[in-house]
Amino acid sequence: MRKILTAEDFECPCCRFSNVDERIMEILNKVNVFYPIEIVKGCRCSSRTTPESPHYADDEIKCIAAHIKVKNCPLRFRVVEKLIEYGVRRIGVDHYRGYVHLDLMSKKHPALWGYNPSGQVMG
Ligand SMILES: [Zn+2]
Ligand SMILES: [Zn+2]
Repeated sequence: MRKILTAEDFECPCCRFSNVDERIMEILNKVNVFYPIEIVKGCRCSSRTTPESPHYADDEIKCIAAHIKVKNCPLRFRVVEKLIEYGVRRIGVDHYRGYVHLDLMSKKHPALWGYNPSGQVMG
């Protein structure tokens, strides 16, 4: 049976802090039914990022973003299709590093973006 994602899968690598938003976990557990999810970036403590980043996490601000590993283009299409079906409106696809970013930042407009070889967002 496939492993169900828990808050542990979203831990910050430096301190194991995790306060991932329940909606992110619910969405990714639904995708996980047909595609085994591997989290490559979940929560980040305040020492590793800024309050503006959706990966930011502290007691007040929930982690509302994740990067999931998706190894090729056909699979990326299926994963992105499912994310949209489950209500995600902000998605980034990094073909160089093989991951898909999703976040639930409600104050920013819906968007689909890519990344350049050095990892910067290409809108
Ligand atoms: Zn940390
Ligand atoms: Zn990201």
